[in-house]
Amino acid sequence: MKHNFLDLSKTNWGEVQQHQYDIVVLPWGAIEPHNYHLPYITDAILSSEIASKSAEQAYAQANVSAVVMPPIYLGSQNPGQWELPFCIHTSYETQKAILTDIVKSLYGQGFRKLLIINGHGGNSFKSMVRDMAVTFPNFYIISSDWYNFVPREGFFDEEIDDHAGEQETSVMMYFHPELVDLNTAGNGTPNLAKMKSIANKTGWMPRNWKETTLDTGVGNPKKSTAEKGERYVKEVVNRIAEMLIEFKEV
Ligand SMILES: [Zn+2]
Repeated sequence: MKHNFLDLSKTNWGEVQQHQYDIVVLPWGAIEPHNYHLPYITDAILSSEIASKSAEQAYAQANVSAVVMPPIYLGSQNPGQWELPFCIHTSYETQKAILTDIVKSLYGQGFRKLLIINGHGGNSFKSMVRDMAVTFPNFYIISSDWYNFVPREGFFDEEIDDHAGEQETSVMMYFHPELVDLNTAGNGTPNLAKMKSIANKTGWMPRNWKETTLDTGVGNPKKSTAEKGERYVKEVVNRIAEMLIEFKEV
């Protein structure tokens, strides 16, 4: 059953006034090409859908009221990706300013718990969340990358699966099959980083996307199915719902 009062994109002030909320959930994505077969705003769509499903489950299981905010679409992008049309690179400072304004507003309204559901690999919130803990000492923020904490083994076949690959495509096929055109997808074959030390992760630097891939994807999406997506989402949502239930008690 859908409870619209848990989703700000579907509810209204009349409904919101009748409820007490324990936690605010903020989906965060990006605007960027996703191979030839997925929409630019894939990361915002998937983090929103997963956030909503998790909020529904936490409410059904333990009466935890977590309201899902409309997603933030602005993500941090690699060189080689941000030059492509309509790919929007958002600086650390801008992202931090957005998060600060959201926290400031929520804080003034009496909320004290925020869960960020991140859907974009280029986003990283740890340092800003630490800064926020200094500025708003009794405001708790958890940041969670939905695609990372449930191992892909046992769910997906491809070993390389970084961007617009089998995982993301399957999950989109589960939520929105109408937004996926697998026939047009490229193979997402990546070139390894030129420096061995970067390829073997001795050190990190942003990959130049143009040198990394021809179709902007990293990971072959061809074996994606809605069934694989559904099985994976179930595990992810179980874990996030559990986290929401624990978070209420903090
Ligand atoms: Zn993505």
